[in-house]
Amino acid sequence: MSLAKDIAACRICADRFAATATRHTPRPVPWFRPSARILIAGQAPGLRVHEAGKPFFDRSGDRLRDWLGLSQEEFYDLNLVACVPAAFCFPGYNAKRADLPPPPICAGTWQDKVMEELPALQLKILVGAYAHRNHLGEKGPLTETVQNWQRHAPGVFVLPHPSWRNTGWLRRNPWFEADLLPELKATIRSVMDQTQSNQQHSS
Ligand code: SF4
Repeated sequence: MSLAKDIAACRICADRFAATATRHTPRPVPWFRPSARILIAGQAPGLRVHEAGKPFFDRSGDRLRDWLGLSQEEFYDLNLVACVPAAFCFPGYNAKRADLPPPPICAGTWQDKVMEELPALQLKILVGAYAHRNHLGEKGPLTETVQNWQRHAPGVFVLPHPSWRNTGWLRRNPWFEADLLPELKATIRSVMDQTQSNQQHSS
């Protein structure tokens, strides 16, 4: 069985999810292929993604695609983009209908195995504090981590989560859209151009 199929069959958190306000069963959303060039390391699926079975298939995804300069078709091209969140399942809501944090056991169980299956990555985009911590060991305040994005670029970009909850953060930090996003978009285009040129040479 492939790793993606192993993850899709995972039910480690069944009891944990049954005890949430949503009382849902695990529905992992693995989205990766060894040929992927760009990693999107996110947090965890929201309810819409849980229902659709497709990563970032929601308003957060629309904003993220806008940040990346990618169309839906490009974003869901498994030969280009892999989506590997801190947890592959929707963690459920708490009593106030806020998303619960991703269960740490998910990254502990799967993250290293998935990363070993992605040898062609040229760019890692770490979305939100959980991804910053899991991939870079960054535990500081999110704004500070993102403000220091040039420490990791161009191979790694650190972003806040594109959730509507961060609209105020975006307003307070205009440098993010003015400085970071143009560099990120240019880096993505360069990865795509290089991939296309490699494919032309090998055909
Ligand atoms: S969140 Fe991860 S560890 Fe938990 S059931 Fe889903 S795939 Fe398994």
